[in-house]
Amino acid sequence: HAKLERDRISMYSPKFDVNTVERLRLLSELRAALDARQLHVVYQPQVDLKNGRTVGVEALVRWRHPVRGLVVPDEFIPLAENSGLIFPLTDFVLDTALGQLAIWRAQGYEVRMAVNLSARHLSDLGLPDQVADIAARHNVPLSSLVLEVTETAILSDPIRADAVIKTLRGLGVEISIDDYGTGNASLSYLKRLEIDELKIDRSFVSNIRIDDHDLIIVKSTIGLALALGLRVVAEGIEDGPTTAALRELGGVLGQGYHLGRPGPPEQIGARLADEHRA
Ligand code: C2E
Ligand code: CA
Ligand code: CA
Ligand code: CA
Repeated sequence: HAKLERDRISMYSPKFDVNTVERLRLLSELRAALDARQLHVVYQPQVDLKNGRTVGVEALVRWRHPVRGLVVPDEFIPLAENSGLIFPLTDFVLDTALGQLAIWRAQGYEVRMAVNLSARHLSDLGLPDQVADIAARHNVPLSSLVLEVTETAILSDPIRADAVIKTLRGLGVEISIDDYGTGNASLSYLKRLEIDELKIDRSFVSNIRIDDHDLIIVKSTIGLALALGLRVVAEGIEDGPTTAALRELGGVLGQGYHLGRPGPPEQIGARLADEHRA
């Protein structure tokens, strides 16, 4: 009886209605946007701090809505995940990013391409074949693809996630743990899982210059990861002093507004050309 009461209240609460209608509308617009090519991909450099070179880029999806303007991923990725639309969306991002990677490789730029996955993908046993198909279509090696997954995504279906990750790595794809340190099981799956890279979350990185504890955490995490043979990326580097501090620690790649904002392919292309000439 108490439950019925609660349901009735939430059913008729205006807030519930507005949110639901609004989300349904956004979802149907997103579906149309995928067909209408309103989505595009921007790329953010990942930099080797010791020499400033761009060694990889992360593909980040953008939605240019004709009326709403730029809609940020945090607003539509969760909708896409809940509806299953995340599968065609990720196909689009992978296809676009690997197509772009093929162009850069043809110009002589050997960078890694990182693409974000959602939890749903890690329980999709068909994913590895699909990824291999897209890479083959663009004639790029799977070893230049890095798939970023979060701890939370792995933990939502750990047995299947293990299987999917093992198969991907068997194909040569690299796996990166995104937002590292914000989940709960960091150390236990570091021990268990085969992965290639850790991305230390921005929430630890951004304050290392003023917070001793953050600095200790970041420093130890880098040490641990390097000792385990993993690559480490520090995310969310927003200023020069933080860049310098991380460079000092050594062995870590950097990503953040200070090193390069996400931008269209031409912007990254120009940057790669500059570095190539230097
Ligand atoms: P993420 O994977 O952690 O990506 C990094 C986010 O941090 C990006 O936000 C990036 O623009 C932002 N960022 C980079 N450097 C800095 C910095 O120095 N300071 C600050 N404050 N932010 C920085 P964005 O592009 O809005 O994406 C947000 C999240 O949406 C991503 O977080 C990722 O979880 C998700 N996302 C983005 N593109 C895709 C995609 O193609 N597929 C999936 N499944 N998720 C995506
Ligand atoms: Ca990411
Ligand atoms: Ca991240
Ligand atoms: Ca994130």
